[in-house]
Amino acid sequence: MESVLAPAILCLGPEGLETARRIRAGCPDAAIRGLAGPVEDAEIRHDSIEAALRDLYRRDVPIIALCAAGTVIRALGPLLGDGLAEPPVLAVAEDGSAVVPLLGLRRGAVALSRIVGASLGTVPAFTSPEEDEVQCRPSAPRQRGRLAVIGLGPGTSGLMAPEVREELRRARHIIGYETYVRMAGPFRPDQIIHASDNRVEMDRARHAFALAAGGEDVVVVSSGDPGIFAMASAVLEALHLSDEPSWHSDVELVILPGISAAQAAAARAGAPLGHDFCTISLSDNLKPWPVILDRLDHAATADLVLALYNPISVARPWQLGEALDLLRRHRADATPVVLGRDVGRPGERISVVTLGELRPDMVDMRTVVIVGSSTTRSFPRHGGGSWVYTPRWYGVSPD
Ligand code: SAH
Repeated sequence: MESVLAPAILCLGPEGLETARRIRAGCPDAAIRGLAGPVEDAEIRHDSIEAALRDLYRRDVPIIALCAAGTVIRALGPLLGDGLAEPPVLAVAEDGSAVVPLLGLRRGAVALSRIVGASLGTVPAFTSPEEDEVQCRPSAPRQRGRLAVIGLGPGTSGLMAPEVREELRRARHIIGYETYVRMAGPFRPDQIIHASDNRVEMDRARHAFALAAGGEDVVVVSSGDPGIFAMASAVLEALHLSDEPSWHSDVELVILPGISAAQAAAARAGAPLGHDFCTISLSDNLKPWPVILDRLDHAATADLVLALYNPISVARPWQLGEALDLLRRHRADATPVVLGRDVGRPGERISVVTLGELRPDMVDMRTVVIVGSSTTRSFPRHGGGSWVYTPRWYGVSPD
């Protein structure tokens, strides 16, 4: 099984620090470690490079050592045993001119060498027959990597498109916010998971391109649809802003859709999106709050059904109340509202309330809120609850 830990880039001297930073552009998870004294700028400092090598090796951390291969061999030699148990270990010349995979060839060292090589513009020096295929990567046509930005749907695997499932099966690297990566699993031991915080979308997108430009198959995971308040835009923006030619020419980029939260919640409640509607995110992380209020005002004036994403969070407790006050100036209190919480996930809850009844404390960040228009209606459902729908006609006779 491959090591799932982030690699350590180890510098012996200050000359290696610049090379370490170039390597890190393709391996953003990696920490730069150095010898205290000569490499004071390193993020983690060690008193002895040999002891650091041995410690990382024992903890199964993939090692990218910017020093002579002999230094690594002398430090790790006494520890070597079963080849299947060793983490990837690479020796890299301090000036970045050579990348030599030494250990862990069956546990990810080949892929890691390719990524490091791509970051340094160096072809790795493969020395064993298993890697012949790669050893021949300048005169042969360059292997194109694939970057698929996929939507998982709301959560349950039944609502995931078969194409998305197939893409997850073929991918070698899976990148995304850790909650969604967990939803996309389980994964095989040969697949490499890069889970991250939700706020680092552009870093994640660049990381994905760096891997794919090195010939890897990469999946970037979003919940719902990747094009709706999710990763597809970040990936395209990263490509648009990049002046790295290989990202444009050597990466096959595909975006595979998923069922969005509003669609899934709407289907559970009936058909509230049956006529014109709009989706608005209430998050003011990436746009000013007055813009959000202005858009809500226009959408309400136009009598559109509204699907509200990111409706409330601990950091933004007051905005939803202000948004509802605005909507109540346009819509009757009896207007049906659908609250879909964790739709398609364990603990799913669909509730139908009226705009008059709706209070912000009925809603959290895992809820999508669908506010009906003047024509949206509801009626009792046999067995409990109610159906909600918006007729397809508006301002004309239905027949
Ligand atoms: N790309 C996603 C949306 C991401 S924005 C999609 O297309 O669904 C995150 C917001 O989406 C959440 O705050 C919530 O409002 C909504 N959301 C995502 N998944 C949801 C689910 N399973 N149930 C209810 N709301 C969900």
